[in-house]
Amino acid sequence: MTTATPPFAITLPADRQQRLQFMRSLFTSHTGDDLTQAWPGGRAEGLRRLAKMQPLAYGKNRNFLGGQVTRLSPYLRHGCLSLGEAIQATKQLASSGADKLLFEFAWRDYWRKVWYANGHAIDSDMEPEKVRLRREALSTDLQEAATGLPCMDHFVQTLKQSGYLHNHARMWLASYMVHWRGVDWRAGASWMQRLLLDGDQASNNLSWQWVASTFGSKPYFFNKENLSKYSANQFCQHCQAACPFDDSYEALSDRLFEPSSAPVKIYQKPTHKPRPSIVGQHTVVLFHDEMLSSENACYAMPHRQVFVFDPDLQQEWALHRLQFIADCLMEMPEVEVWVGHTSDVLESLGAANIVTQNTPNLTLKGLLQAYQVDYLAEPLAYDAELANKITAKDLKRFSKYWAIVGSAILRQAAN
Ligand SMILES: Cc1cc2nc3c(=O)[nH]c(=O)nc-3n(C[C@H](O)[C@H](O)[C@H](O)COP(=O)(O)OP(=O)(O)OC[C@H]3O[C@@H](n4cnc5c(N)ncnc54)[C@H](O)[C@@H]3O)c2cc1C
Repeated sequence: MTTATPPFAITLPADRQQRLQFMRSLFTSHTGDDLTQAWPGGRAEGLRRLAKMQPLAYGKNRNFLGGQVTRLSPYLRHGCLSLGEAIQATKQLASSGADKLLFEFAWRDYWRKVWYANGHAIDSDMEPEKVRLRREALSTDLQEAATGLPCMDHFVQTLKQSGYLHNHARMWLASYMVHWRGVDWRAGASWMQRLLLDGDQASNNLSWQWVASTFGSKPYFFNKENLSKYSANQFCQHCQAACPFDDSYEALSDRLFEPSSAPVKIYQKPTHKPRPSIVGQHTVVLFHDEMLSSENACYAMPHRQVFVFDPDLQQEWALHRLQFIADCLMEMPEVEVWVGHTSDVLESLGAANIVTQNTPNLTLKGLLQAYQVDYLAEPLAYDAELANKITAKDLKRFSKYWAIVGSAILRQAAN
Protein backbone atom coordinates (compact mmCIF):
# COMPACT_ATOMS: atom_id res chain seq x y z
CA MET A 1 0.00 0.00 0.00
CA THR A 2 1.47 3.36 -0.94
CA THR A 3 1.35 6.30 1.39
CA ALA A 4 2.19 9.26 -0.83
CA THR A 5 -0.44 9.09 -3.60
CA PRO A 6 -3.73 11.01 -3.30
CA PRO A 7 -6.71 8.86 -2.29
CA PHE A 8 -8.68 7.16 -5.05
CA ALA A 9 -11.91 5.17 -5.28
CA ILE A 10 -11.87 1.63 -6.68
CA THR A 11 -14.49 -0.68 -8.16
CA LEU A 12 -14.05 -4.28 -7.11
CA PRO A 13 -14.58 -6.78 -9.95
CA ALA A 14 -17.63 -8.99 -9.38
CA ASP A 15 -15.84 -12.09 -10.66
CA ARG A 16 -13.88 -13.62 -7.77
CA GLN A 17 -10.79 -14.64 -9.75
CA GLN A 18 -10.59 -11.20 -11.31
CA ARG A 19 -11.08 -9.65 -7.88
CA LEU A 20 -8.19 -11.63 -6.38
CA GLN A 21 -6.02 -10.62 -9.29
CA PHE A 22 -7.16 -6.98 -9.03
CA MET A 23 -6.26 -6.85 -5.34
CA ARG A 24 -2.90 -8.46 -6.02
CA SER A 25 -2.06 -5.86 -8.67
CA LEU A 26 -3.28 -3.01 -6.46
CA PHE A 27 -1.37 -4.00 -3.33
CA THR A 28 1.93 -5.18 -4.73
CA SER A 29 3.89 -4.49 -1.55
CA HIS A 30 1.72 -6.89 0.47
CA THR A 31 3.29 -10.32 0.70
CA GLY A 32 1.62 -13.68 0.96
CA ASP A 33 -0.31 -16.13 -1.14
CA ASP A 34 -3.72 -15.47 -2.70
CA LEU A 35 -6.77 -16.17 -0.57
CA THR A 36 -7.57 -19.85 -0.98
CA GLN A 37 -10.91 -21.25 -2.17
CA ALA A 38 -11.49 -22.50 1.37
CA TRP A 39 -11.79 -18.99 2.80
CA PRO A 40 -14.27 -16.86 0.86
CA GLY A 41 -14.92 -13.63 2.76
CA GLY A 42 -18.36 -12.25 3.61
CA ARG A 43 -21.46 -12.74 5.68
CA ALA A 44 -23.03 -15.36 3.40
CA GLU A 45 -20.10 -17.70 4.00
CA GLY A 46 -20.11 -16.86 7.72
CA LEU A 47 -23.80 -17.85 7.95
CA ARG A 48 -23.08 -21.08 6.07
CA ARG A 49 -20.39 -21.93 8.64
CA LEU A 50 -22.70 -21.08 11.53
CA ALA A 51 -25.26 -23.57 10.21
CA LYS A 52 -22.59 -26.28 9.93
CA MET A 53 -21.19 -25.95 13.46
CA GLN A 54 -21.09 -29.16 15.48
CA PRO A 55 -21.19 -27.98 19.10
CA LEU A 56 -21.32 -31.46 20.66
CA ALA A 57 -18.41 -32.87 18.66
CA TYR A 58 -16.55 -29.63 19.31
CA GLY A 59 -16.78 -30.21 23.05
CA LYS A 60 -15.12 -33.60 22.62
CA ASN A 61 -12.42 -33.01 20.04
CA ARG A 62 -11.68 -29.29 19.72
CA ASN A 63 -8.09 -29.70 20.93
CA PHE A 64 -7.21 -32.09 18.09
CA LEU A 65 -5.91 -30.55 14.88
CA GLY A 66 -8.51 -32.61 13.04
CA GLY A 67 -11.32 -31.70 15.49
CA GLN A 68 -14.65 -30.12 14.58
CA VAL A 69 -13.62 -26.52 15.09
CA THR A 70 -15.84 -23.87 13.53
CA ARG A 71 -13.34 -21.82 11.47
CA LEU A 72 -15.51 -18.80 12.22
CA SER A 73 -12.80 -16.48 13.50
CA PRO A 74 -12.21 -14.34 10.37
CA TYR A 75 -15.99 -13.81 10.05
CA LEU A 76 -16.32 -12.77 13.71
CA ARG A 77 -13.18 -10.64 13.52
CA HIS A 78 -14.46 -8.60 10.58
CA GLY A 79 -18.00 -8.25 11.89
CA CYS A 80 -19.56 -10.39 9.13
CA LEU A 81 -21.21 -12.14 12.09
CA SER A 82 -21.69 -10.96 15.65
CA LEU A 83 -20.76 -12.99 18.70
CA GLY A 84 -24.40 -12.77 19.80
CA GLU A 85 -25.46 -14.46 16.54
CA ALA A 86 -22.87 -17.19 17.03
CA ILE A 87 -24.07 -17.84 20.59
CA GLN A 88 -27.72 -17.96 19.47
CA ALA A 89 -26.94 -20.28 16.56
CA THR A 90 -25.03 -22.60 18.88
CA LYS A 91 -27.98 -22.83 21.25
CA GLN A 92 -30.28 -23.57 18.33
CA LEU A 93 -28.09 -26.41 17.14
CA ALA A 94 -27.63 -27.91 20.60
CA SER A 95 -29.94 -26.97 23.47
CA SER A 96 -27.50 -28.69 25.84
CA GLY A 97 -23.91 -29.93 25.69
CA ALA A 98 -22.60 -26.89 23.84
CA ASP A 99 -20.88 -25.37 26.87
CA LYS A 100 -17.36 -25.75 25.57
CA LEU A 101 -18.05 -23.84 22.36
CA LEU A 102 -19.95 -21.11 24.23
CA PHE A 103 -17.03 -20.88 26.64
CA GLU A 104 -14.61 -20.34 23.74
CA PHE A 105 -16.80 -17.63 22.20
CA ALA A 106 -16.59 -15.90 25.59
CA TRP A 107 -12.79 -15.83 25.33
CA ARG A 108 -13.08 -13.58 22.30
CA ASP A 109 -15.44 -11.26 24.18
CA TYR A 110 -13.12 -11.29 27.19
CA TRP A 111 -9.98 -10.29 25.26
CA ARG A 112 -11.96 -7.55 23.53
CA LYS A 113 -13.13 -6.13 26.83
CA VAL A 114 -9.54 -6.16 28.10
CA TRP A 115 -8.60 -4.18 24.99
CA TYR A 116 -11.40 -1.63 25.55
CA ALA A 117 -10.28 -1.24 29.18
CA ASN A 118 -6.53 -1.00 28.51
CA GLY A 119 -6.10 0.49 25.02
CA HIS A 120 -2.49 0.55 23.76
CA ALA A 121 -1.33 -1.05 27.02
CA ILE A 122 -2.16 -4.48 25.56
CA ASP A 123 0.84 -3.99 23.25
CA SER A 124 3.10 -3.96 26.35
CA ASP A 125 3.48 -6.45 29.19
CA MET A 126 0.21 -6.56 31.11
CA GLU A 127 1.98 -8.00 34.16
CA PRO A 128 5.58 -8.79 35.17
CA GLU A 129 7.00 -11.86 33.44
CA LYS A 130 6.80 -14.92 35.70
CA VAL A 131 9.88 -16.51 34.13
CA ARG A 132 12.87 -14.86 32.53
CA LEU A 133 12.08 -13.96 28.90
CA ARG A 134 14.99 -13.43 26.50
CA ARG A 135 13.03 -11.12 24.15
CA GLU A 136 15.11 -11.67 21.02
CA ALA A 137 14.24 -10.84 17.40
CA LEU A 138 12.34 -13.29 15.21
CA SER A 139 14.97 -15.14 13.19
CA THR A 140 14.67 -15.96 9.50
CA ASP A 141 14.45 -19.74 9.96
CA LEU A 142 11.29 -19.25 12.02
CA GLN A 143 9.68 -16.94 9.49
CA GLU A 144 10.69 -19.10 6.53
CA ALA A 145 9.59 -22.49 7.91
CA ALA A 146 13.21 -23.65 7.95
CA THR A 147 13.75 -24.74 11.57
CA GLY A 148 14.13 -28.39 10.55
CA LEU A 149 11.28 -29.38 12.89
CA PRO A 150 8.51 -30.80 10.67
CA CYS A 151 5.75 -29.74 13.11
CA MET A 152 6.78 -26.10 13.50
CA ASP A 153 7.70 -25.70 9.83
CA HIS A 154 4.31 -27.12 8.85
CA PHE A 155 2.50 -24.63 11.10
CA VAL A 156 4.40 -21.69 9.63
CA GLN A 157 3.75 -22.89 6.06
CA THR A 158 0.05 -23.40 6.76
CA LEU A 159 -0.23 -19.95 8.26
CA LYS A 160 1.49 -18.32 5.31
CA GLN A 161 -0.50 -20.23 2.72
CA SER A 162 -3.97 -20.11 4.23
CA GLY A 163 -3.94 -17.39 6.92
CA TYR A 164 -5.42 -19.86 9.41
CA LEU A 165 -4.03 -22.07 12.17
CA HIS A 166 -5.86 -24.27 14.65
CA ASN A 167 -5.76 -22.87 18.20
CA HIS A 168 -3.53 -25.67 19.50
CA ALA A 169 -1.03 -25.10 16.69
CA ARG A 170 -0.96 -21.37 17.54
CA MET A 171 -0.23 -22.25 21.17
CA TRP A 172 2.56 -24.70 20.27
CA LEU A 173 4.14 -22.32 17.76
CA ALA A 174 3.99 -19.30 20.07
CA SER A 175 5.38 -21.34 22.96
CA TYR A 176 8.20 -22.75 20.81
CA MET A 177 9.13 -19.26 19.64
CA VAL A 178 9.01 -17.57 23.05
CA HIS A 179 10.31 -20.28 25.40
CA TRP A 180 12.56 -22.51 23.28
CA ARG A 181 13.87 -19.84 20.89
CA GLY A 182 13.74 -16.80 23.17
CA VAL A 183 11.70 -14.64 20.76
CA ASP A 184 10.17 -11.45 22.14
CA TRP A 185 6.43 -12.14 22.35
CA ARG A 186 5.76 -8.81 20.66
CA ALA A 187 7.84 -9.76 17.61
CA GLY A 188 6.07 -13.13 17.38
CA ALA A 189 2.64 -11.59 17.87
CA SER A 190 3.02 -8.91 15.24
CA TRP A 191 4.44 -11.42 12.73
CA MET A 192 1.51 -13.80 13.31
CA GLN A 193 -1.09 -11.05 13.23
CA ARG A 194 0.18 -9.88 9.83
CA LEU A 195 -0.45 -13.34 8.38
CA LEU A 196 -3.70 -14.35 10.07
CA LEU A 197 -7.04 -13.86 8.32
CA ASP A 198 -8.53 -13.37 11.79
CA GLY A 199 -5.61 -11.19 13.00
CA ASP A 200 -6.94 -9.30 15.99
CA GLN A 201 -4.90 -7.11 18.30
CA ALA A 202 -6.67 -8.29 21.46
CA SER A 203 -7.05 -12.05 20.85
CA ASN A 204 -3.57 -12.22 19.37
CA ASN A 205 -1.46 -10.00 21.66
CA LEU A 206 -3.14 -11.24 24.81
CA SER A 207 -2.86 -14.90 23.78
CA TRP A 208 0.87 -14.39 23.15
CA GLN A 209 1.14 -12.74 26.56
CA TRP A 210 -0.72 -15.66 28.12
CA VAL A 211 1.82 -18.03 26.53
CA ALA A 212 4.76 -15.83 27.61
CA SER A 213 3.46 -15.42 31.21
CA THR A 214 2.94 -11.64 31.11
CA PHE A 215 -0.83 -12.11 31.29
CA GLY A 216 -1.24 -15.25 33.33
CA SER A 217 0.22 -16.91 36.39
CA LYS A 218 2.69 -19.17 34.55
CA PRO A 219 4.19 -19.76 31.09
CA TYR A 220 2.44 -22.10 28.65
CA PHE A 221 4.61 -24.95 27.37
CA PHE A 222 4.07 -28.47 26.06
CA ASN A 223 5.95 -31.67 25.38
CA LYS A 224 6.22 -34.16 22.52
CA GLU A 225 3.55 -36.44 24.00
CA ASN A 226 1.02 -33.61 23.97
CA LEU A 227 1.87 -32.49 20.43
CA SER A 228 1.90 -36.02 19.11
CA LYS A 229 -1.47 -36.88 20.70
CA TYR A 230 -3.37 -33.83 19.45
CA SER A 231 -1.82 -33.92 15.98
CA ALA A 232 -2.62 -37.63 15.48
CA ASN A 233 1.12 -38.32 15.39
CA GLN A 234 1.31 -36.86 11.88
CA PHE A 235 4.60 -34.99 12.46
CA CYS A 236 6.36 -37.22 14.98
CA GLN A 237 5.78 -40.43 13.04
CA HIS A 238 8.53 -39.85 10.46
CA CYS A 239 10.43 -37.08 12.20
CA GLN A 240 14.22 -37.38 12.01
CA ALA A 241 14.99 -34.16 13.90
CA ALA A 242 16.46 -34.00 17.38
CA CYS A 243 13.20 -33.28 19.17
CA PRO A 244 13.47 -30.40 21.69
CA PHE A 245 10.07 -31.33 23.14
CA ASP A 246 10.74 -34.98 23.95
CA ASP A 247 10.85 -34.95 27.74
CA SER A 248 8.72 -34.81 30.86
CA TYR A 249 7.11 -31.50 31.86
CA GLU A 250 9.33 -31.39 34.95
CA ALA A 251 12.55 -31.81 32.96
CA LEU A 252 11.46 -29.28 30.31
CA SER A 253 10.48 -26.78 32.95
CA ASP A 254 13.89 -27.10 34.62
CA ARG A 255 15.61 -26.63 31.29
CA LEU A 256 13.51 -23.76 29.94
CA PHE A 257 12.67 -21.54 32.86
CA GLU A 258 14.46 -19.38 35.37
CA PRO A 259 12.58 -17.19 37.83
CA SER A 260 12.47 -13.51 36.95
CA SER A 261 12.16 -10.30 38.89
CA ALA A 262 12.18 -8.04 35.82
CA PRO A 263 9.70 -5.16 35.93
CA VAL A 264 6.82 -4.80 33.48
CA LYS A 265 8.11 -3.64 30.07
CA ILE A 266 6.21 -0.71 28.58
CA TYR A 267 6.53 0.14 24.89
CA GLN A 268 5.54 3.51 23.45
CA LYS A 269 3.22 3.62 20.46
CA PRO A 270 3.80 6.45 17.94
CA THR A 271 0.87 8.84 17.93
CA HIS A 272 -0.70 10.37 14.83
CA LYS A 273 -1.03 14.13 14.76
CA PRO A 274 -4.67 15.10 14.25
CA ARG A 275 -5.56 17.53 11.48
CA PRO A 276 -6.03 21.00 12.90
CA SER A 277 -9.33 22.00 11.29
CA ILE A 278 -12.13 20.46 9.29
CA VAL A 279 -13.78 22.42 6.51
CA GLY A 280 -16.32 19.84 5.30
CA GLN A 281 -20.03 19.82 5.99
CA HIS A 282 -21.27 16.32 5.19
CA THR A 283 -21.97 13.27 7.32
CA VAL A 284 -20.12 10.16 6.17
CA VAL A 285 -20.60 6.62 7.45
CA LEU A 286 -17.18 5.04 7.84
CA PHE A 287 -17.05 1.25 7.70
CA HIS A 288 -13.92 0.01 9.39
CA ASP A 289 -12.61 -3.56 9.33
CA GLU A 290 -14.71 -4.79 12.28
CA MET A 291 -18.11 -4.08 10.71
CA LEU A 292 -18.14 -5.74 7.28
CA SER A 293 -21.76 -6.81 6.99
CA SER A 294 -24.81 -5.40 5.26
CA GLU A 295 -26.68 -6.30 8.46
CA ASN A 296 -24.63 -3.77 10.39
CA ALA A 297 -26.85 -0.97 11.76
CA CYS A 298 -24.77 1.64 9.90
CA TYR A 299 -25.59 0.10 6.52
CA ALA A 300 -29.19 1.33 6.70
CA MET A 301 -28.14 4.97 7.19
CA PRO A 302 -29.01 7.50 4.48
CA HIS A 303 -25.50 9.03 4.29
CA ARG A 304 -22.58 8.34 1.99
CA GLN A 305 -20.86 5.12 3.09
CA VAL A 306 -17.16 4.39 2.68
CA PHE A 307 -14.50 1.82 3.47
CA VAL A 308 -10.83 2.81 3.20
CA PHE A 309 -7.87 0.55 2.59
CA ASP A 310 -5.52 2.71 4.67
CA PRO A 311 -1.75 2.12 5.03
CA ASP A 312 -1.92 3.38 8.63
CA LEU A 313 -4.33 0.57 9.46
CA GLN A 314 -3.43 -2.35 7.17
CA GLN A 315 0.11 -1.56 6.03
CA GLU A 316 1.59 -4.93 6.91
CA TRP A 317 -1.35 -7.25 6.43
CA ALA A 318 -0.84 -10.20 4.11
CA LEU A 319 -2.44 -10.01 0.68
CA HIS A 320 -4.95 -12.78 1.46
CA ARG A 321 -6.39 -10.68 4.30
CA LEU A 322 -7.02 -7.73 1.96
CA GLN A 323 -8.62 -10.12 -0.54
CA PHE A 324 -10.84 -11.50 2.23
CA ILE A 325 -11.98 -7.94 3.00
CA ALA A 326 -12.64 -7.34 -0.70
CA ASP A 327 -14.94 -10.41 -0.71
CA CYS A 328 -16.80 -8.98 2.28
CA LEU A 329 -17.21 -5.60 0.60
CA MET A 330 -18.69 -7.22 -2.53
CA GLU A 331 -21.74 -8.05 -0.40
CA MET A 332 -22.07 -4.39 0.58
CA PRO A 333 -22.75 -2.54 -2.71
CA GLU A 334 -23.78 0.68 -0.97
CA VAL A 335 -20.26 1.11 0.39
CA GLU A 336 -17.72 3.04 -1.71
CA VAL A 337 -14.26 1.52 -1.52
CA TRP A 338 -11.25 3.85 -1.35
CA VAL A 339 -7.49 3.50 -1.11
CA GLY A 340 -5.49 6.15 0.78
CA HIS A 341 -5.21 7.78 4.16
CA THR A 342 -8.57 7.87 5.93
CA SER A 343 -8.26 11.59 6.68
CA ASP A 344 -7.46 12.38 3.01
CA VAL A 345 -10.48 10.37 1.85
CA LEU A 346 -12.77 12.06 4.36
CA GLU A 347 -11.44 15.46 3.33
CA SER A 348 -12.01 14.73 -0.35
CA LEU A 349 -15.60 13.77 0.48
CA GLY A 350 -16.17 17.02 2.38
CA ALA A 351 -16.85 15.16 5.62
CA ALA A 352 -17.38 16.96 8.90
CA ASN A 353 -19.33 14.37 10.87
CA ILE A 354 -18.51 10.69 10.90
CA VAL A 355 -20.73 7.83 11.96
CA THR A 356 -19.09 4.51 12.66
CA GLN A 357 -19.21 1.54 15.02
CA ASN A 358 -17.36 1.82 18.30
CA THR A 359 -14.02 0.06 18.51
CA PRO A 360 -11.19 -0.42 21.01
CA ASN A 361 -8.77 0.31 18.13
CA LEU A 362 -7.15 3.57 19.25
CA THR A 363 -5.06 3.84 16.08
CA LEU A 364 -8.28 4.20 14.09
CA LYS A 365 -9.79 6.55 16.65
CA GLY A 366 -6.61 8.65 16.48
CA LEU A 367 -7.11 9.08 12.71
CA LEU A 368 -10.60 10.46 13.34
CA GLN A 369 -9.65 12.88 16.11
CA ALA A 370 -10.29 16.00 14.07
CA TYR A 371 -13.89 15.01 13.32
CA GLN A 372 -17.13 15.00 15.20
CA VAL A 373 -17.59 11.21 15.47
CA ASP A 374 -20.72 9.38 16.46
CA TYR A 375 -19.57 5.94 17.69
CA LEU A 376 -22.50 3.52 17.64
CA ALA A 377 -22.38 0.66 20.14
CA GLU A 378 -21.25 -2.63 18.65
CA PRO A 379 -23.67 -5.58 18.84
CA LEU A 380 -23.50 -7.14 22.31
CA ALA A 381 -23.02 -10.82 22.99
CA TYR A 382 -25.40 -10.57 25.98
CA ASP A 383 -27.58 -7.91 27.56
CA ALA A 384 -26.15 -4.47 28.30
CA GLU A 385 -27.06 -4.59 31.98
CA LEU A 386 -24.83 -7.61 32.47
CA ALA A 387 -22.04 -6.10 30.37
CA ASN A 388 -22.11 -2.99 32.58
CA LYS A 389 -21.56 -5.11 35.69
CA ILE A 390 -18.07 -6.14 34.52
CA THR A 391 -15.42 -4.07 36.32
CA ALA A 392 -11.71 -3.61 35.58
CA LYS A 393 -11.00 -6.01 38.45
CA ASP A 394 -13.12 -8.71 36.79
CA LEU A 395 -10.95 -8.39 33.68
CA LYS A 396 -7.75 -9.38 35.52
CA ARG A 397 -8.46 -13.04 34.78
CA PHE A 398 -10.88 -14.87 32.49
CA SER A 399 -12.16 -16.89 35.46
CA LYS A 400 -13.36 -13.70 37.20
CA TYR A 401 -15.04 -12.45 34.03
CA TRP A 402 -16.65 -15.85 33.44
CA ALA A 403 -18.04 -15.82 36.99
CA ILE A 404 -20.07 -12.72 35.99
CA VAL A 405 -21.23 -13.63 32.47
CA GLY A 406 -20.89 -17.41 32.24
CA SER A 407 -24.29 -18.51 33.46
CA ALA A 408 -26.05 -15.91 31.27
CA ILE A 409 -24.16 -17.06 28.16
CA LEU A 410 -24.86 -20.72 28.89
CA ARG A 411 -28.58 -20.26 29.47
CA GLN A 412 -29.16 -17.56 26.79
CA ALA A 413 -32.34 -18.77 25.16
CA ALA A 414 -32.47 -19.46 21.44
CA ASN A 415 -35.37 -17.65 19.76
C1 LIG B 1 -0.86 -17.38 19.95
C2 LIG B 1 -2.32 -17.22 19.63
C3 LIG B 1 -2.73 -16.19 18.78
C4 LIG B 1 -4.08 -16.01 18.49
N1 LIG B 1 -4.47 -14.98 17.66
C5 LIG B 1 -5.78 -14.79 17.38
C6 LIG B 1 -6.20 -13.73 16.52
O1 LIG B 1 -5.40 -12.91 16.06
N2 LIG B 1 -7.53 -13.63 16.25
C7 LIG B 1 -8.45 -14.49 16.77
O2 LIG B 1 -9.64 -14.34 16.46
N3 LIG B 1 -8.08 -15.48 17.61
C8 LIG B 1 -6.78 -15.67 17.92
N4 LIG B 1 -6.41 -16.69 18.76
C9 LIG B 1 -7.45 -17.49 19.42
C10 LIG B 1 -7.85 -18.77 18.68
O3 LIG B 1 -6.69 -19.51 18.37
C11 LIG B 1 -8.65 -18.52 17.41
O4 LIG B 1 -9.74 -17.66 17.68
C12 LIG B 1 -9.23 -19.83 16.87
O5 LIG B 1 -8.20 -20.78 16.68
C13 LIG B 1 -9.94 -19.56 15.57
O6 LIG B 1 -10.33 -20.77 14.96
P1 LIG B 1 -11.84 -21.25 14.97
O7 LIG B 1 -12.73 -20.15 14.52
O8 LIG B 1 -11.89 -22.52 14.22
O9 LIG B 1 -12.05 -21.46 16.53
P2 LIG B 1 -13.05 -22.38 17.37
O10 LIG B 1 -12.24 -23.26 18.22
O11 LIG B 1 -14.05 -23.01 16.47
O12 LIG B 1 -13.75 -21.34 18.31
C14 LIG B 1 -14.92 -20.62 17.95
C15 LIG B 1 -14.66 -19.13 18.13
O13 LIG B 1 -14.40 -18.85 19.50
C16 LIG B 1 -13.40 -17.82 19.60
N5 LIG B 1 -12.22 -18.41 20.25
C17 LIG B 1 -11.89 -19.71 20.38
N6 LIG B 1 -10.76 -19.84 21.10
C18 LIG B 1 -10.36 -18.61 21.42
C19 LIG B 1 -9.26 -18.06 22.14
N7 LIG B 1 -8.35 -18.84 22.72
N8 LIG B 1 -9.16 -16.72 22.26
C20 LIG B 1 -10.09 -15.91 21.70
N9 LIG B 1 -11.16 -16.36 21.01
C21 LIG B 1 -11.29 -17.68 20.87
C22 LIG B 1 -13.05 -17.41 18.19
O14 LIG B 1 -13.81 -16.28 17.84
C23 LIG B 1 -13.45 -18.62 17.38
O15 LIG B 1 -13.78 -18.29 16.06
C24 LIG B 1 -5.05 -16.87 19.07
C25 LIG B 1 -4.62 -17.90 19.93
C26 LIG B 1 -3.28 -18.08 20.20
C27 LIG B 1 -2.85 -19.18 21.12
